[in-house]
Amino acid sequence: MTALEPNIESSPPPGRIRLLPEEAANRIAAGEVVERPASAVKELMENALDAGARRIEITIAEAGRRLIRVSDDGQGIPAEDLTLAFARHATSKLDPGDTFDIRAFGFRGEALASLGAVAEVTLTSRAVGAAEAAAIRCRQGHLGRPHPAARARGTEVCVEGLFSATPARLKFLKSDRAELQAILEAVRRLAAAAPDVAVEVHECGDGDGRTLLRLDPAPGAHARIAALLGRAFVAGSVEIDATRDGIRLEGLAGLPTLARGASVSQYLAVNGRPVRDRLLQGALRAGYSDLIPQGRHPMAALFLTCPPDAVDVNVHPAKAEVRFRDPGVVRGLIVGALRSALAEAGHRSA
Ligand code: ADP
Ligand code: MG
Repeated sequence: MTALEPNIESSPPPGRIRLLPEEAANRIAAGEVVERPASAVKELMENALDAGARRIEITIAEAGRRLIRVSDDGQGIPAEDLTLAFARHATSKLDPGDTFDIRAFGFRGEALASLGAVAEVTLTSRAVGAAEAAAIRCRQGHLGRPHPAARARGTEVCVEGLFSATPARLKFLKSDRAELQAILEAVRRLAAAAPDVAVEVHECGDGDGRTLLRLDPAPGAHARIAALLGRAFVAGSVEIDATRDGIRLEGLAGLPTLARGASVSQYLAVNGRPVRDRLLQGALRAGYSDLIPQGRHPMAALFLTCPPDAVDVNVHPAKAEVRFRDPGVVRGLIVGALRSALAEAGHRSA
């Protein structure tokens, strides 16, 4: 080693800058993507939706600590790509012109690499047109070889022992009940924006199992919203459909009487992607301004569609926030649409 080369020896003199061992670096990076079982479920379900799945089945054991299995009937992964699927910053969501596929749920190429770093992950897939399936296993950052397997078309990702090698993270998790609720919440949010995809969540216990959520393909967004937020919400809400500068806002906004003490009944999505974005939440609040007392939150299911270049969806590791090119237009659209719809429903003067 010359004096100008970075020092990556195992025990350099103290005070020298060293590169983290790859395994440690991967675990740190993984923590930003996979914070808790619900984030794993979210990433896997996004991948299934990106793969064009019509049906997604999720199985959970011990609130996701023992097992998270997500199975889809999407396009699958060619056997020769299985190894790459676990590489950091590897994605198939680039088009031939090297621009990203903006319809995809993000393309940071980090989910499987992250999960593989903090759990034991088995990926089994059969691509469209492939004669057989193949599987590969990644154990706490160590990738095995792909081998033939049996399954119908589509992909199954099995995550076992999440965080079992990182006790600090395990300790950070909340109660089983809370983690399970967070998982269901993540699934519901994604399912709200994909009404034509069937989604099931099962819990498997010792010997017995139960179905926690079952959503049949719904004819149109309203039927799925009714299944998620209840018929009372659909009956007690106003329809929103407004466009400004090529950005469209659609969905249902609950009448002020339906306001809740918590904001869990707000489903917001941008280009089919659920977000918890402060700009959108603030605009939603402002649309109801004097109609709802402090501390109460309107119920709403609102879907924003905008041209891909009007929004950056990859700014956040967990892809929960987005960045709009022109936040003022988005805010104005939401506030304006809510105000006029609520006014029409007789709840405020326009
Ligand atoms: P990203 O989704 O950002 O590309 P991931 O780590 O989530 O990164 O996945 C890596 C790649 O593995 C994807 O780009 C895709 O090609 C493939 N992949 C993962 N899950 C699935 C799935 N359920 N069906 C088909 N392909 C998948
Ligand atoms: Mg992904």
